[in-house]
Amino acid sequence: MDDKIVAANFKTNHTRRSTAEYVEAIDLFLSEKKIGLPLYIFPPSTALDSFETKNSIHIGAQNAYPTVKGSFTGEIGLQQLEEFGIDTILVGHSERRHILKETQEFVAEKFRWFKERGFTIFYCIGEPLEVRKAGEEAVRQYLLKQCEGIDTSYENLVLAYEPVWAIGTGKTATPELIEQTHALIKAFSDRPLLYGGSVKPQNIKEILEVPGCDGALIGTSSWEVSGMVSMLRKVKG
Ligand code: PEP
Repeated sequence: MDDKIVAANFKTNHTRRSTAEYVEAIDLFLSEKKIGLPLYIFPPSTALDSFETKNSIHIGAQNAYPTVKGSFTGEIGLQQLEEFGIDTILVGHSERRHILKETQEFVAEKFRWFKERGFTIFYCIGEPLEVRKAGEEAVRQYLLKQCEGIDTSYENLVLAYEPVWAIGTGKTATPELIEQTHALIKAFSDRPLLYGGSVKPQNIKEILEVPGCDGALIGTSSWEVSGMVSMLRKVKG
């Protein structure tokens, strides 16, 4: 499964020191087990750094403002990312859409801005429970709306399907539902497509084996080295 992409979203967890320890431990583990898959880690912005690793570990930003620098209190821009050679960003995560109230227009503006600068963009889409309950066509329409203003054929795009009802809830979408929904998305984008939503050591292998699933974006279960290691072990088989 070395062609799968695994990504860890730390959200508002970890410090600068614990992130460095985490990266070192995972790098060592990947070397020992000869696991070659590309691993992306999205630490909080205070822990961004340029780490020297032996494996394919990429550090990305969970968020940044579409600006080089300026007066955007509390935000970071390109200047702060470039200091550490960061060229990967997460855009459209459901927590930013729902808790931080980012609109589709703003998400699309951010996407365009970072695309113009060649960033690898992990772009998240996913429906809330009421839309899922309304059926597959409602889900398709919802996901299409979340792609308004987004170049879904952008060469450095990685899509992540993350149903809101599965994020941080312990409730994972079934393999059948992931396969069905990924097929809907693959009909309008040929970019790599990850699944995210309560991926854990118990289900990662099954999820990565779903046809049309190119990897996993993992929150909660990725925060401890032990959790990440046990998921990577499963991926290795
Ligand atoms: C996420 O936040 O992208 C995520 C998938 O979280 P969790 O794994 O905790 O559901």
